[in-house]
Amino acid sequence: MSFEALNRRTFLGATAATLALSAGLGAQSAERKTKHVVLIGFAGGVRTRETFGSPSNVPNLVSLAKEGVLYKRVKSSNLGHYGAALSLFTGVAEPRGIRENGRGEEPTLFEYARKGLGLAAKDVWIATSGGAQQTNYSYSTHADYGERYGANTVDGDGLFNAEFKSILETLGRPKKLDEREAELLAKMRASIGGADPKAALNNAESAAQVERFILDELTGGTASLRGPNAADAKAIRVARNLLVLFKPRLVAIVLQSADIAHGNFNGYADVVRQNDAAIGDLMKAIRADPALRDSTAVIACPEFGRDRDLNSRRGLDHGDGSEDLEFVSAVAWGPEFARDRVIEDDVRAVDLCPTVCQLLGTTAPRAKAKALPRLYA
Ligand SMILES: [Zn+2]
Repeated sequence: MSFEALNRRTFLGATAATLALSAGLGAQSAERKTKHVVLIGFAGGVRTRETFGSPSNVPNLVSLAKEGVLYKRVKSSNLGHYGAALSLFTGVAEPRGIRENGRGEEPTLFEYARKGLGLAAKDVWIATSGGAQQTNYSYSTHADYGERYGANTVDGDGLFNAEFKSILETLGRPKKLDEREAELLAKMRASIGGADPKAALNNAESAAQVERFILDELTGGTASLRGPNAADAKAIRVARNLLVLFKPRLVAIVLQSADIAHGNFNGYADVVRQNDAAIGDLMKAIRADPALRDSTAVIACPEFGRDRDLNSRRGLDHGDGSEDLEFVSAVAWGPEFARDRVIEDDVRAVDLCPTVCQLLGTTAPRAKAKALPRLYA
């Protein structure tokens, strides 16, 4: 094979892998049924009263619980929205050096997964509902971890941090194209004007077009999403597209629209209902995909709840120290989990981090938390 042919073959293989489809499973995970984990930070401050306390608001979460495990008393870390959501990813309830607009010092589960399992950037993603602050979830400042083990971040409008070429270069060996890969590759080639794809790697302009194509695939359908939860719905849609296209090992989603509750209770309840519907769409895609449905775990948990009583604006703040604020409900659904099991014992939101690491076949050495109890069948 000529050098040029080899390069071409490598590029096509790499492209096919980018566009999808090889999960690149590590040896450690081969023993587990769970190959993919979706962690949904159902954040913005969401009480159990509006989720499992009002089952008609969240039919999709309820059906996940019926087929999985419901934790009814999950103690949250009351650190403000940012710190509390970050603690879901770090497994540390009181991180030092946390600033509202800075990265944390404690490694995230993304870093644990990438370092512990040797995962490439393409395997670990976080889809956020927007805001520069949320990109800080993707990695910490910890010297042993940090950016080189960070998650790719993408938001509903397609902002995307990855150095695209480096992703291409980290992809695996060429393999035979299946039908879907061939179709995507054909579409991608059309999108770069029929140019020889191998040239795209070394040509900034066409590389940008390739990146545009990937982003268009990831954000497919988000432009039409409207309503008070639009930013959240876009993040969930991007995560769905990511799962179907790339089959990554770990995708986290961070929501935030529920915080409309400070001034608008009805708007908040509406966000909860619409986010549940968006999660329903995500589940439909997972259940319809033979490469995902029997190998994907989905875990959803708010970062904290909200106050017991309405404020003077008929909204709900978060600061009264009530059970409504301090305890939330989490649901876990996956091929290895128990079905229709309800856990009444107290667990902690920070326990999600070591739980996800365990599922993927690694550990979270700095987390001050332990894997959720009675999760497995
Ligand atoms: Zn708030």
